[in-house]
Amino acid sequence: MLLHIGIDDTDSPNGMCTTYLGALLYRELSRLGEPLDLPRLIRLNPNIPYKTRGNGAVALIFDIEEEYIEEAKSLVIAKVKELADFSHENTNPGVAFLEGEVPQDLTEFSLRALREHVTIEEAEKVAKNIGAEIAKFKLGRGIIGALAAIGYPLRRYTYELLAYRDPRNREKERRVDKDSVFEMDKRFYPFTYDNVDPYKGTVLITPHGKDPVLVGIRGIDKGKVLQAFEEVKIYEEVIMFQLYKTNQSTDDHLVPKKIKDVKLYDSVIIRGKVASRYWERGRHVFFELEDETGKIRVAAFEPTKKFRNYVRKLLPGDEIIVAGGVKEHEGVLTVNLEKFYPIRLVPRIELKKPKCPKCGGTMKSKGDYLKCKRCGFKMPKILIPVEKQRDLKRKIYEVPPDARKHLSRPLVLPGGEDSILTVL
Ligand code: ATP
Repeated sequence: MLLHIGIDDTDSPNGMCTTYLGALLYRELSRLGEPLDLPRLIRLNPNIPYKTRGNGAVALIFDIEEEYIEEAKSLVIAKVKELADFSHENTNPGVAFLEGEVPQDLTEFSLRALREHVTIEEAEKVAKNIGAEIAKFKLGRGIIGALAAIGYPLRRYTYELLAYRDPRNREKERRVDKDSVFEMDKRFYPFTYDNVDPYKGTVLITPHGKDPVLVGIRGIDKGKVLQAFEEVKIYEEVIMFQLYKTNQSTDDHLVPKKIKDVKLYDSVIIRGKVASRYWERGRHVFFELEDETGKIRVAAFEPTKKFRNYVRKLLPGDEIIVAGGVKEHEGVLTVNLEKFYPIRLVPRIELKKPKCPKCGGTMKSKGDYLKCKRCGFKMPKILIPVEKQRDLKRKIYEVPPDARKHLSRPLVLPGGEDSILTVL
């Protein structure tokens, strides 16, 4: 009998990680049945406010003899009770069990949880309709992610190898050798990616929170991910590591939309024209984008660092495609840029002072007339329009690795350009 198990919302900023629980259960349940695939790490809507970090949920699939099914379910519930961080107000664990094949209704629910906001009641309704069993702890919001992780149509996927430390070491600094990570990246990039930030010289595979993850290595080739892990020198005990199959870096979250249809928490691809010069607030850069249906604010926030320089080069009238998540900023719907592509750029015109018609000298502005610095010749201030080169190339610009959303596909991967170009 096929048994799908989904788990979510067991962690808090103070510790734990749902993937840690998933990896433990994957081992323990393997005594009762046959795992039919690697465990899944499914990232859901990156824009919803309840997430602890990356809105990840975990699903496992086992082939288990009928007589062991109840034991397997009890084991899962017991582990969640034992390890979830119930003390944190924002931790609301949920577990889902589904026997047999995944029905279409659940697949559809899963894609909604990826791209929209869904409620606990909607999750309960789907569970009832398809005959899935759910267990809610506290508010039980985790049943949304638990069900969605089971139903996710993982047609495109990548891998992430997660290595864990003893959760009791959560206050200690992670002892991972920085140079060995750079060496590993040199050997395996782009088969494993986002290992380091080459511009800042920082390591990206180690999280900074109190969760038990020591390192997470992402890649498109599972053999290379495992080899890469062997190269990293870790000077503390690794209690377990687990390869996950995941929808990270697939761009599955992005949906092409017209501006009038854009809603809070969407992740969208929009083709339009820059409608205003950029402006800055704090260190964030904003501009307005319009299409035939309306206008929307677009932002490159401070953590996107150098990426903002490219956004600053956009001019009103430029035709571009943007991709990003929709959140409210200062009460205004704002597309938080992940990538953009300049399709057609307007000419950049600068007005220059002419040379002195008498002696060829340099003219100086004096109110509404020009005066030659050399011979003193005066003339009305008539400036000459000069076309300057635009500094943007016809290529897709993406945010740097440490500002990238888990679901966003790096351009260096095969198909990295596909999603944004669907609206070309
Ligand atoms: P981590 O990445 O460390 O696992 P997290 O960022 O995944 O942490 P969670 O603790 O899982 O954060 O919290 C996310 C919560 O939001 C879960 O309860 C999940 O069920 C719920 N959720 C997921 N997707 C949606 C959605 N589309 N609409 C509403 N709620 C959602």
